[in-house]
Amino acid sequence: MDPVASAEHLFAERYGRRPAGVWSAPGRVNLIGEHTDYNDGFVFPFAIDKRTTVALGDRDDRLIRVASTFSPDVVELHIDELSPDAVSGWAAYPLGVAWALGEFGADLAHVRGVDLHIDSDVPVGAGLSSSAALECAVALALDEHWGLGFDRPTLAKVGRLAENRVVGAPTGIMDQSASLLGEHDAGVFLDCRSLDADVIPLGFAASGLSLLVIDTKVEHAHSTGGYAARRASCEAGARALGVESLRDLHVGDLARAQEVLDDETFRRVRHVVTENQRVLDTVRSLREHGAGSIGPMLDASHVSMRDDFEISVPELDLAVETAQANGAIGARMTGGGFGGAAIALVIDALVPVITKAVGAAFAEHGYRAPAIFTVHASQGARRDA
Ligand code: ADP
Ligand code: MG
Repeated sequence: MDPVASAEHLFAERYGRRPAGVWSAPGRVNLIGEHTDYNDGFVFPFAIDKRTTVALGDRDDRLIRVASTFSPDVVELHIDELSPDAVSGWAAYPLGVAWALGEFGADLAHVRGVDLHIDSDVPVGAGLSSSAALECAVALALDEHWGLGFDRPTLAKVGRLAENRVVGAPTGIMDQSASLLGEHDAGVFLDCRSLDADVIPLGFAASGLSLLVIDTKVEHAHSTGGYAARRASCEAGARALGVESLRDLHVGDLARAQEVLDDETFRRVRHVVTENQRVLDTVRSLREHGAGSIGPMLDASHVSMRDDFEISVPELDLAVETAQANGAIGARMTGGGFGGAAIALVIDALVPVITKAVGAAFAEHGYRAPAIFTVHASQGARRDA
């Protein structure tokens, strides 16, 4: 069954009537620019061909009910009771978005309630941002259904606010921007300070290239531990160097940074500063020389995350090294780190070779079998029916 028919069917099964509409939003893969978003820097993700759908039905009262194929429960809340603390668990994402729309000025006093049913083929916790796919699908669905008229950059901020305040994960704006602004065969080059976004053709298919995702299945937890610690290090580094954010530093400033900072903070700073430069280099190289030229930036990004930012894990390193050793143009871990996925840019003909080699290497190390699949740059959030 196609995703729209399936979303309508699942809605009808759960709520006993047909939905009024179906919206969807994609997950994303970050080509390059890791942990730069909350440092006001540059990122270059693209929306992928895996999506979260939201089927929406009107109600006569002011309840919002949310259900997902991932969960047996239907969670409900009165619109007047929306608040950052009103709900926990997965329902914090959709209900958090409803609350956040109000924070951005939507007049929710007169809208009617809705029933939402959520379905998705975005793998959860694989570094492909199932969370942003969910937020953005719900944000666009509620915006259009309620006639709120927000533009997409604002809806991205709505999703981020929901994730930051209601879910409690201190994430940046990248994921939501990719999910809302992505286009077919293009990446979203985003300046996280100005929020200026440039949609840049990738031309992977035209160059005979595929982007392989290697999901290590190693669990990561964004909202805890490592992520918050890295963020704190970046803030401490910026403070010690007298800049508003690490965005304000350039590669030429690193010698001074090394004198001022302790070794660990310096390495955290060096990752962010060089990663920003690598994003700029990637975009320029892509424009000037095509997709086949961006490998060295991907490879260097991985080394920086492994050694300076220290957010890789052995499974990610093995995935990257095996892909590189078997002919990948470039490879790196992607996402927040501590697990999740690696990506490899690969000549089409080598996809089966690298898939097999990575699988074999994982087996040899006694690691859990990874999920390996290609992703294609796809259209951002949209109404499907
Ligand atoms: P990811 O890297 O996939 O974004 P996160 O931990 O940020 O990982 O977000 C995953 C969480 O988002 C899940 O644990 C769940 O709470 C919620 N989520 C994502 N997709 C769905 C879905 N289709 N249905 C219900 N909850 C979902
Ligand atoms: Mg997430």
